[in-house]
Amino acid sequence: MLTTGPRGTKDILPDSCGYWQYVEQTIREVCRSFAYQEIRTPVFEHTELFLRGIGETTDIVEKEMYTFADRGKRSITLRPENTAAVVRAYLEHKLYAGPQPTKLFYIGPMFRYDRPQAGRYRQFHQFGIEVLGAKGPAVDAEIISLAVRFFNKLGLNDLKLFINSVGCPECRPVYRAKLQEFFRDKVPNLCADCQSRFDRNPMRILDCKNETCTTHSQGAPHMVDCLCEECTSHFNGLKELLTAAGINFVTNPRLVRGLDYYTKTAFEIQYAPLGAQSAVCGGGRYDGLVAECGGQPTPGIGFAIGIERVLLALEKQALLPVITSAVDVFVAPLGIKTQAAAFKLLTELRQAGITADMDFMDRSLKAQMKYANKYPAKFVALIGEDELEQDKVMLKNMETGSQELINRAELVHMITEGMEK
Ligand code: ATP
Ligand code: MG
Repeated sequence: MLTTGPRGTKDILPDSCGYWQYVEQTIREVCRSFAYQEIRTPVFEHTELFLRGIGETTDIVEKEMYTFADRGKRSITLRPENTAAVVRAYLEHKLYAGPQPTKLFYIGPMFRYDRPQAGRYRQFHQFGIEVLGAKGPAVDAEIISLAVRFFNKLGLNDLKLFINSVGCPECRPVYRAKLQEFFRDKVPNLCADCQSRFDRNPMRILDCKNETCTTHSQGAPHMVDCLCEECTSHFNGLKELLTAAGINFVTNPRLVRGLDYYTKTAFEIQYAPLGAQSAVCGGGRYDGLVAECGGQPTPGIGFAIGIERVLLALEKQALLPVITSAVDVFVAPLGIKTQAAAFKLLTELRQAGITADMDFMDRSLKAQMKYANKYPAKFVALIGEDELEQDKVMLKNMETGSQELINRAELVHMITEGMEK
């Protein structure tokens, strides 16, 4: 137990942190160029926020939340997603009083009691976007193009964008009734989850992964055929904008979210080779959420991208960057007497902005050279007892193999010059 982490969690070891930093840096660059600002909210919130903000009939709330009573007997939940928390922060800090729309992004860990497998963990990380205050389809197109830009910048190919409209509280009840009509005599054949969804949230039957349910939902009516005028023009507007921006998409009537505050646009980006975990990005409009959380009615839209799945896709396409741990200089003291001089040199090198390390293991000359080679280090600065006495250092160029005895005071200057060449 003590030497194994909890199921569904992962250590990100030094070997892979460079990949994470690369992805995070790409996120920051893309968000900056689209004029989105970062927001960091706590990893835990009042449970009530997620009950309201995600919805009690969703898988997340029904089965996946890490909920516990804290020592003050408040019900606390580790965030399973971040939209509700961003909306909470937007209201708490009156971000609506600033320039509109409010365009935010976040990066951070989320927690869900999911069934762990490749691309599915209990602690995982999302990069997400939320835009509050803008209702037209242009902002839907903007966030989709931001996601596409992010994937393109990483060089990923073979991603597919699916879009749909889930209507609004005006047109959805009509569709819902049609859908129930369609499923009524099929209910006994559906999975247990879908049997209970039939009354509570029938649209979610369409999105069930169970094969029998998928078969039985063939031929079900489509939301896009039942949209009211406003939702139709919003959806057409989005398609027009995406086409104008050269973004390919496929309309997928199965892409649903059954809650009242999810409205109009729903979308997903998939990378098929990830199999059952093929969704790398999921998003949509939630024009009813801010009011649901206690604010003035305010339109909103967002998406979340699973960073682990992005890394899996990068790995599959051999797009992970080469990460180097190379140093410019490795300082090699020979014998305990030389250690203080070596340490002083190391400090000076680092102060001058040179990447440097030294031997901390009292290794022999041979072992130190071997170690420096492994790094790799461009130069090794050797200080033996002779060098110590003469205020010198033996500088070895590890690429050419040449070495030169130089004054210790000149080392920083020489290295800086050498690196500039
Ligand atoms: P799935 O159908 O795969 O469970 P979801 O509908 O639960 O996905 P969202 O809530 O839309 O996913 O989250 C957005 C993205 O976060 C997903 O597209 C996926 O990339 C990632 N994600 C969701 N759950 C997990 C998880 N348990 N482990 C790793 N990534 C996840
Ligand atoms: Mg899920």
